[in-house]
Amino acid sequence: MNQYFAGLGEKPFRSQQLLQWIYQRKVMDYEEMTDLSKALRLRLKESTCLTLPRIVNQQVSSDGTCKWLMQLQDGNSIEAVFIPEDDRGTLCVSSQVGCSLNCTFCATARQGFSRHLTVDEIIGQLWVANHALEEMGVRTARPDVPSDHRRPVTNVVMMGMGEPLANFDNVVAAMNLMMDDFTFGLSRRRVTLSTAGMVPAIDRLAEACPVSLAVSLHAPNDALRDQLVPLNKKYPIESLLGACQRFIGESQRQRITFEYVMLQEVNDTPSLARELAALLADMPAKVNLIPFNPFEGIQYQRSSKSRIDRFRDILLSKNIFTVTRKTRGDDIDAACGQLAGDFTDRTRRSERMRRDSVKVAVV
Ligand code: SAH
Repeated sequence: MNQYFAGLGEKPFRSQQLLQWIYQRKVMDYEEMTDLSKALRLRLKESTCLTLPRIVNQQVSSDGTCKWLMQLQDGNSIEAVFIPEDDRGTLCVSSQVGCSLNCTFCATARQGFSRHLTVDEIIGQLWVANHALEEMGVRTARPDVPSDHRRPVTNVVMMGMGEPLANFDNVVAAMNLMMDDFTFGLSRRRVTLSTAGMVPAIDRLAEACPVSLAVSLHAPNDALRDQLVPLNKKYPIESLLGACQRFIGESQRQRITFEYVMLQEVNDTPSLARELAALLADMPAKVNLIPFNPFEGIQYQRSSKSRIDRFRDILLSKNIFTVTRKTRGDDIDAACGQLAGDFTDRTRRSERMRRDSVKVAVV
C-alpha cells in the first residue's frame, strides 16, 4: 500500500489513514474518507475497489457459536465461525475455497477444492464477522483493552476451510495485516495457524510470521497417519516433528499444539496414547483432543467419553499437557471438520467420493 501511494506521489502515512478508515472506523466508501483530498479519493475510486464477502446465511447455535456462509465476488461461498467464551471471542477463518488435502474424517475434504482465497477475502472474514457481531450487540470482555477499542473478535484461528500453508503468501499477508496497529492490532499470541503438516512451509512460517502453531497430528505412527492424513506420505511424522522443533527454536514460542481427532476404535486405544506420549516426550507440546464431529455419509464414530478420558489420562500421567476440546456449535454444523461452504469442485473429488465407498481405518 505504501508503494501504491508512493506511485501516486503521496506520503506513506496515507496507507495508515486508509487502513484506519476501513478497519477501525469501518468506512467502506472513499467519499466519506474526509481527511484524504478530493483528488485522491477520486483516484482511489477509479483505480481500486473496496469489497467484502457478503453474508448469505447466519446461524446461531444454542451455545452462542455463530456460523456465517459468506459469498465471494465470483459466487463461491465459504464459512467462518465465531466461538464466544467468557474472556475472549475466537473467529475460525477459512483460507481456501474447499481443500485439496484429503483427510478421511473431514467434511471440507468431501467437497473437493476450488481455489485459494485472496488476502482481502481472508481479512474480509474478520471485518464482516466483527461488524455482524457488533450489530448483534455482542461484547467480549477483555479487561486489558480500553472499552472503545474492544471488538467482539479477540482471537483468530486459521482453522476453517482449507490448508492455510498451501496458500502461504496470502495467508501470511492477511495475518500480518490483522496484527497491524492500524487494523485490528491482534497480538501474535492471539493468532493461531493450524496445518496438516506442510513441512517446508512450517519452516518458512517461522521466519515470515511466527504466530502460534497448531499441527493436526491425529496418529502417533506413519502407518495409521498415512490413512487419516494422506499428506503424511509426503511429509512423514519424523520430518514433521523436526519442523516443529525448528519452529519452536526460530519463533521462540513456548510450545506447539497438537490436534488429535478422537475416532472410536481407530486412533483412540490406550496403546496409541502411550505411543503418542513417547513420541512427544521431548517436544514442548500441548495435546488438544478433538471429539470427532460426524457428518452425513461418514463411517467414523466419535470416541466415547470414557475412551477420550482414558486417552487423556494416559497422556497426563506421562506429563504431556492435554485438554479435550469442547465441542461447540455442532447443532448448526459449525464444529471442527464440519465446514462445507458452497462452491464448484474443480477436482471432481466430491463426485468420486459419492461413487466410491469410504475406506475406514481400523486399528
Ligand atoms: N487444514 C488445516 C486447517 C483445518 S483446522 C489442518 O488440517 O490443520 C481444522 C481442525 O479440525 C484440524 O485439526 C482437523 O484435522 C480437524 N477436523 C477435521 N475434520 C474433523 C471432524 N470431522 N471432527 C473433528 N475434527 C475435525
